[in-house]
Amino acid sequence: MESVFDVVIIGGGVVGCSQVFTLTRLGYRCLLLEKEAHLVSMASSGNSGMLHTGFDAPLGSIELACILKCQQQILPVLKSLGLPYSKIGATMVAWNSQQKEKLPQVMRKAKDANMDDVLELSLSQLYQREPHLAHGATAALWIPREAVIDPWLTPISFAHHAKSLGAKVLTSTMVQGCEQDSQGIWRVTTDRGIFRGNVVINSAGLYGDVVDKLAGVQKFRIMPRLGQYLVYGKETKSLINSSILPIPTEKTKGVIIFKSVYDNVIIGPTQEETEKRTTPVCLSQQTVNTLLDHGRVSVPSLQSHPVVHTYSGTRPATDTKDYHVIPHIDRNWLTLGGIRSTGLSSCLGVADMVGKIMKEKFCLEPSNSPNMHLPTVDISFTNHRTAMLGSEEYTVTHPITYTGKFDRKAWANL
Ligand SMILES: Cc1cc2nc3c(=O)[nH]c(=O)nc-3n(C[C@H](O)[C@H](O)[C@H](O)COP(=O)(O)OP(=O)(O)OC[C@H]3O[C@@H](n4cnc5c(N)ncnc54)[C@H](O)[C@@H]3O)c2cc1C
Repeated sequence: MESVFDVVIIGGGVVGCSQVFTLTRLGYRCLLLEKEAHLVSMASSGNSGMLHTGFDAPLGSIELACILKCQQQILPVLKSLGLPYSKIGATMVAWNSQQKEKLPQVMRKAKDANMDDVLELSLSQLYQREPHLAHGATAALWIPREAVIDPWLTPISFAHHAKSLGAKVLTSTMVQGCEQDSQGIWRVTTDRGIFRGNVVINSAGLYGDVVDKLAGVQKFRIMPRLGQYLVYGKETKSLINSSILPIPTEKTKGVIIFKSVYDNVIIGPTQEETEKRTTPVCLSQQTVNTLLDHGRVSVPSLQSHPVVHTYSGTRPATDTKDYHVIPHIDRNWLTLGGIRSTGLSSCLGVADMVGKIMKEKFCLEPSNSPNMHLPTVDISFTNHRTAMLGSEEYTVTHPITYTGKFDRKAWANL
């Protein structure tokens, strides 16, 4: 049997990969267990790749605190690792008088969250910045710090770096049972054996409630919410200069027209309640039409370009808006659940909070010395679904990465 790890992390999405990255750098001996054959295979493989600033996150929420904390760290970390990002900013556009009336409220919320750089644009400023936008906008806001990153390379590089520091990362390893022995050490049973750890972190995303149940704790239920997208080729990149946001509602950020870090224009995501925790392979014609319509009325020139790809992702939503960051102190079990629509934007903030919980709530000191050095990752894409990080091969699971790294001609020949 293996020795006892400081921390066993269940789930290799962006949340789990960020935990293994941060905790290993702090000196904790970590084991990450992922049931799928590849890391970043579920919710984290179907997102928009946007680094949100949190301007519309609820004030006082864990979500906002983690996004703001992540904002302070993530760009220097991406820079050190040599990962791509683009600070393209976002333009929120109102198209009628009711929407226009909501902008002061959005602006107030942003200011209350100390985002003083959110600005109102005049209509002439708007059309100067976004000349391909449809006529008829009634008002607009400029949110300069919204950015886009590679949503696959980022978490994969985090896990890869943790491995280089000694963390163990196992894929195709499904956690099936969790129990504590008489000394409080967790025995995590998987289809590849039993692993032991002082603390367990549940970052199982869409199965967060199922994994909590294995430990006999249950505070929330996952209510999956599907989001679907259309992807255009890079020839459309000059049609927008920033992410074009609609006015958010209580429930959704709405359908966005944005540019990936590789310059593909993308329309999405939709917001659909679903019973299924997995994502459909194809979009329905009705969804395609709805998204095409959204593109047509907002950026009409998009109509003359073909859609080169479509994809979907399912959010691990719950019946409450905020994240479920729940340390079960008497059990040495930490739930990171319901991180539904901003998990990429908050990833290092959540991990920072977890580092503090390890010390302050679980009184767990790291076994090793910290190692904060962050060398550039040597990355090469060998074909449309494979990348080498150093000498290790990884399967690319996110459509933003694999459509972005290869042009349409390459796609047509597949
Ligand atoms: C449509 C959409 C758009 C989004 N857009 C953005 C965006 O632009 N910006 C942003 O910041 N966020 C965005 N998000 C949110 C972000 O993607 C999520 O917050 C994030 O992916 C959640 O990550 P996770 O690691 O908790 O979950 P997941 O990615 O689902 O990872 C959990 C992992 O746990 C594994 N697992 C489950 N059960 C077990 C088990 N028993 N044993 C072992 N492994 C297990 C799963 O296989 C999975 O790989 C979006 C999400 C969606 C779906």
